Amino acid sequence: MAPPMSASAFLRALKAEGLKVVEVGDWRDHNRNHKGPWGPVHGVMIHHTVTKGSARTVELCRRGYADLPGPLCHGVITKDGRVHLVGYGRANHAGLGDDDVLRAVIAEKRLPADNEANTDGNRHFYGFECENLGDGEDPWPAAQLEAIERAAAAVCRHHGWNERSVIGHREWQPGKVDPRGFSMTSMRKRIGDRLK
Ligand SMILES: [Zn+2]
Repeated sequence: MAPPMSASAFLRALKAEGLKVVEVGDWRDHNRNHKGPWGPVHGVMIHHTVTKGSARTVELCRRGYADLPGPLCHGVITKDGRVHLVGYGRANHAGLGDDDVLRAVIAEKRLPADNEANTDGNRHFYGFECENLGDGEDPWPAAQLEAIERAAAAVCRHHGWNERSVIGHREWQPGKVDPRGFSMTSMRKRIGDRLK
């Protein structure tokens, strides 16, 4: 259980982890806080965007869709490994997920299967959307995977969490498949090694 870090602390943490960060528009104040709570925070969630083209991907995650307004995450990790900050606060990325998974994340224990959608995830997770078509064929460049590792580690380091506080959307919400193309087990291993 932790209060969310400030926008400035979030930016500092990402830079301190060696990331190239791009601040997009009014990201510090772009959020969905008027629709519900933000915090306490318990973890980090990784997604893929199902989009092609970095500029378009960033803009889409900032603005969202008619029936799902942005921001759709906090940071967009493009294929070149840059992190584009599009929002801060409550964001439309996690949706409803499994309370048993949330309990496991809080306890940093092995994840149970996600088979319920009964808990507001937008309140409790930092979110990173990663530019990828999500078809299992679109490649994940090394620079992008390293940025995912560093971004998740940056948040964990700030809060004193370990790699078990980092999950994929597909481990949270039944029916979701993202991120697809690498395993969250291998990504957690990388994050854990970085945090040592
Ligand atoms: Zn997702």
